[in-house]
Amino acid sequence: MSDTTVKPKTAASLQADALADKYETIAFDDSRVVKYGDTPGWDVLRKVAEPVTEITPDIKALITEMQDIMYSAHGVGLAAPQVSRSVRLLVYDAGEGFRALMNPEVIKKKGEQYEPEEGCLSIPGLRGVVRRANEIVVKAMDADGKAIQFKAREFEARILLHEIDHLNGVLFIDLADPESLHMLTPAEDRAEGIKE
Ligand SMILES: [Zn+2]
Repeated sequence: MSDTTVKPKTAASLQADALADKYETIAFDDSRVVKYGDTPGWDVLRKVAEPVTEITPDIKALITEMQDIMYSAHGVGLAAPQVSRSVRLLVYDAGEGFRALMNPEVIKKKGEQYEPEEGCLSIPGLRGVVRRANEIVVKAMDADGKAIQFKAREFEARILLHEIDHLNGVLFIDLADPESLHMLTPAEDRAEGIKE
């Protein structure tokens, strides 16, 4: 008897793998992302960000800039504090296109999920297992200033929960199973898992 059973990947892990493959073709540059404990003013990552009251030209420009920074850094999500702006704005792409949300709030949570391992663009190389809700309902303002509410599951829910934590000064290292935290080499870091 041999133990050759490989645990099937969850839908969320498969989605993460597909995105990692897609990003292989984009020149990597994470130099514009604030790094925890390193970039001057990095403590912006520990602040509770301010609400966005209206979609000004400044906010529109910030969304465009964050879109560029997120894809360049091969990220699936990015929160404004990660680019030194303490405002409640996040951008993400869970594989279904780019989206920006302002003042996002989780109004319902259901179930739990543990995969894929999380990584953060602001803490390069580190990965860990974070227990997240499997299904959430999010209330937010979209890029046109319209109030929206929607349901997100699995991979998308994980990204949103990670980014919303950023808006509250919370990092995945605060929530990860401490024994699961491990460092990857820079090459592995680019090739594996999700960074947000
Ligand atoms: Zn992060």
